[in-house]
Parts: sequence; C-alpha cells; structure tokens
Amino acid sequence: MTVSHSRYAWCVLLSLALAGGVVQAASDPDAYLDVTVEGDSRVPGLLSTEGSRFDTDYTVEPSNTSGSPATRKTNRLRLNFGCRHGGGYLTGCLVSLFVDSRAGTGGHVHSSDRPTGSFTRLFGTVDPHTGLLETVFTAPEASGIITIYGEAFHPLTFVRSAEFTIGVGFEGLVELPDSDQYLKIGSRPEHPDNHFGTSTLVTRMQELAAAYREAYPDATPLEYNDMSLEFGGVFDLNKNWAPPHRGHRTGVHVDLRTRTLTEEQIEMIKMFANKFNLLVYDETSTATPHFHLTAR
Ligand SMILES: [Zn+2]
Ligand SMILES: [Zn+2]
Repeated sequence: MTVSHSRYAWCVLLSLALAGGVVQAASDPDAYLDVTVEGDSRVPGLLSTEGSRFDTDYTVEPSNTSGSPATRKTNRLRLNFGCRHGGGYLTGCLVSLFVDSRAGTGGHVHSSDRPTGSFTRLFGTVDPHTGLLETVFTAPEASGIITIYGEAFHPLTFVRSAEFTIGVGFEGLVELPDSDQYLKIGSRPEHPDNHFGTSTLVTRMQELAAAYREAYPDATPLEYNDMSLEFGGVFDLNKNWAPPHRGHRTGVHVDLRTRTLTEEQIEMIKMFANKFNLLVYDETSTATPHFHLTAR
C-alpha cells in the first residue's frame, strides 16, 4: 500500500512541478513532516490508570454514535500537517498519511476489523497560503491507540517522514478493588479487565455491597458484572466494536447480577441503591437477569 501511494504521490508531484505549482524551493536537509492539533475535545496530557497508560502525542475522548440517543456525541480533532522548514512551512509539499489502530490497546484483546476512526482526507498538497494540509479526525467509539504514519514529498527538498499517535479514551477511571464484600464477575479473554469506573461509582458500589452484606451476612455477596473498560468507550461484548452494551462507556454504569437472588433481596437492593444514589434500571426479567445501575 505504501509503495503504490508513494508512486502516486511522486507522479502528482511531478505534474505539479511541471505545471509550475511548486511555489517555494529549498534545499535544507532538515525539513520534516509536522502536525499541529486543535479541537474542542482534546484532553491534554497522558491517559492513565493504575494498570496502564497511553503515552501518546494527543488524546481525545471516544465518540458515541451507537449508544442511547441522549448520550450520543462525536469527538473530533483538527489536524494540520505541514512540511516544517526553519521557522515556517514549505509550500508545494505533498502529504500522504497511513492510519492504523494498535492491537491490544484500550482493554480490547481482540483485533480483527479494529476501527481507526475516520479522516476527511489522507492525501493532498498543502494549502499554498498556509503551507498546511488540514484533515479532521473523528474518534472511533472504541478506546485505543491510533497511529498515523505520514510521508511528505517535495521536488527539491528531502522531507523526513514522521509517526504520530492519538490516544482515544476517557481519563481518570479507576478499577473496582478486590474485596470479600462483593464478587467481580464477567471477565473474558477478549475483555479481561471489565471493572473500571468513576471513583463516584466505585464508592457507591462499595457502600451498596457493604449494606447488603450487613443485611444478609450469610448470603452470597453481590455479583458485580461489567462496568467499563479501562479507558471507557464502547464495551463490545460480542467483539464486533458495537453494542449490545449501549452504555458502560464512561464509567458510570455497572450490571449487578440478580439471577440467584430472592424477591426480598432484590427489593432490599433497590432500596439500598436508592439510598446510595444509584439509579436502577430493571432488567431482572430478561434472559440475563440483572440491574443496570447508574451513578447519578
Ligand atoms: Zn472489544
Ligand atoms: Zn448494563
């Protein structure tokens, strides 16, 4: 793919040069492809949890286009690529970008058809006035690391290629600690760490479990199933980068299994959930009986 793109790039470039389209010539060997970023969803700094961190050039929160309608959101970054030369940019530079999504990142240990998000363009000549090629990146719904490998071509100057990374994820989720007050269930090989949430959710879950344990000291502790992945984003139970979990993206949801509970215990949990500010969505009559709890 790289070879054919490069060949195409050179053909276009040659045409431009012959047509007099190259505005500025230079011979500085230190020209290099550079990128600047602007966008309202940008999160400065690293994304990190206790377990891992995204050490990337830029970060953005994942989009949500398949969640419940009220929560849908598209997050973008505006990327400006240019051939940096001294204090400015070369004109007549041709930029070619190759995009990939890094396997195993964002809590997804499955990689086929991993989404990269979308770019308005991956190839083109820089603007003759600004020396920049603008492309708008729309974040995918899944968290993870997106890599952009960029090449640039200029007829008179060698321009060094470059690689950039974008971390897609929510900052600041914490893992529900292990405890004898509750059970953490639902871990699967493709999503091994399924108990991340906001510190508010984690605290309320601990309070709920402690209250339940006090009421039923001899019963099985509460069984907490899926919360969110380590950096949030779509939690694709079926490994297809899409719901059935429409929520579970931002660290405020947890599924509490109710299959083995008595009616009385279920009512007690509802009461405690209300007390600890957890909104109950009742899914006890579905094939996988549970409460979907939200930290308000
Ligand atoms: Zn996944
Ligand atoms: Zn749920």
